[in-house]
Amino acid sequence: MLTPELPAAPHRHLCTDCGVSRTNNPKRCASACQFIQPDYGQLEQRIHGRQRIPEANHQQLHDEVFFGPHRRMLQASLTPALEGAQWTGITTRLAERLLDTGEVDAVITMTADPDDVWRPKPVIVTKSSDLSQCRGMRMGYAPLVALVEPALQQGLHRLALIGIPCQVYAARALQPEWEREHGLTKLVVIGIPCSDNTTTERFHDFLALVAPEPKDVTYLEFCADYHVEIRTRQGQVRRIPFLKLPLSELPADFFPLTCRTCVDYTNSLSDLTVGYMGGRGEQWLIVRNEQGEQLVSLLGSALRSAAPTSAGDRMGAVRGFIRNVERSAGGLPLQRMPKWLRPLVSWMMPRVGPRGLEFARARVQMKAAETVIHLRREQGQRVKHMVPPHVWRLVQEHGLRPSAQERGPTA
Ligand SMILES: Cc1cc2nc3c(=O)[nH]c(=O)nc-3n(C[C@H](O)[C@H](O)[C@H](O)COP(=O)(O)OP(=O)(O)OC[C@H]3O[C@@H](n4cnc5c(N)ncnc54)[C@H](O)[C@@H]3O)c2cc1C
Ligand code: SF4
Ligand code: SF4
Repeated sequence: MLTPELPAAPHRHLCTDCGVSRTNNPKRCASACQFIQPDYGQLEQRIHGRQRIPEANHQQLHDEVFFGPHRRMLQASLTPALEGAQWTGITTRLAERLLDTGEVDAVITMTADPDDVWRPKPVIVTKSSDLSQCRGMRMGYAPLVALVEPALQQGLHRLALIGIPCQVYAARALQPEWEREHGLTKLVVIGIPCSDNTTTERFHDFLALVAPEPKDVTYLEFCADYHVEIRTRQGQVRRIPFLKLPLSELPADFFPLTCRTCVDYTNSLSDLTVGYMGGRGEQWLIVRNEQGEQLVSLLGSALRSAAPTSAGDRMGAVRGFIRNVERSAGGLPLQRMPKWLRPLVSWMMPRVGPRGLEFARARVQMKAAETVIHLRREQGQRVKHMVPPHVWRLVQEHGLRPSAQERGPTA
């Protein structure tokens, strides 16, 4: 594994340190940043050959408005699952197969920082056996994109990148320059969805609230059945219903503005997105283009898959969420459920709440509303350039529309 030394990150205002600011030409942030003036339509066209389909019919949004351009979606598991993976390890196995079959020269991804297992550290991996050190989820962000040019300088011209949406946006924006000027001949992008990320330091504060011995926690996941699952090194597994999480004890700025106003939850510029939200307890694949199809085929019979299903109705849940975000963004206390009702609602949500694809639609729509509400409140002047048309389409179902000043060129 190669871990090139990187310069310190210069100050940027809305920034998740994706790595562009640490390259030889940090001025490229202006055109490569998800938080400055993203152009999803143009990048979708270049990468997938078309933009997302806006409407299924006059009443209904097309699933591509929620999830980005795709050919098909799957509910899937790797069998047997990879030990130490976040879910069943589809992401890691794909990267292993890419290296073992000689499809790429290197995979750029995250491992754990040697001093803090929760802190992501970007690495260039050339041997598939090293990928076992990259499995699992870390909380926080680190300069993944800054490793692309050093990899190209080492003669690694065919690359795979595993990244979260803000990193993938920057990589896709810089891809033509890498091809033109740095010798990149192939870029395979495996995207993971991302939302509600925060700094690793802040994540440790959260762990201290939910676990009696935070240093023993080795795994944490927000599952699609409305529970957080926590595993410890002693082998204990705890499942806490979302409604019982001590969210009110977190400071208002616990989630940085970047992660409250992020506009691409499902990583729409990847070739293949590997998540779980639409998977009903399994993983969820969004196959976006031919490269994505080729990735899926690399898994062969180790992939058990089926068409994803959908149940329940998201509208009430999304409406309630938006009301609460509006209250908290305005400094008012959240409308809380009485304590005695919480166990009952926690029991009911996985059974009658939105499930499968409807759960994923609900989460994407909630995130879109959160983006508009928080950005309007904290950085109103950025709304026009930062909120893409698909986000406005998602929130208009709930009465949020751009004002004349907020309307970007394509909104
Ligand atoms: C902060 C965060 C929030 C997420 N939120 C959601 C969500 O809301 N909905 C959803 O469906 N999925 C979400 N995911 C993705 C999900 O947790 C799994 O990573 C994904 O489903 C892949 O599972 P796997 O078993 O195939 O991964 P594994 O085989 O275990 O591989 C995981 C890969 O992710 C990389 N990785 C881990 N942490 C980071 C990080 N902080 N930054 C960049 N790369 C990282 C690893 O290096 C590794 O390559 C989130 C991931 C992260 C990091
Ligand atoms: S997120 Fe990346 S592109 Fe955006 S300002 Fe930070 S380093 Fe630059
Ligand atoms: S939530 Fe969005 S901005 Fe924050 S780390 Fe994830 S992809 Fe980046």
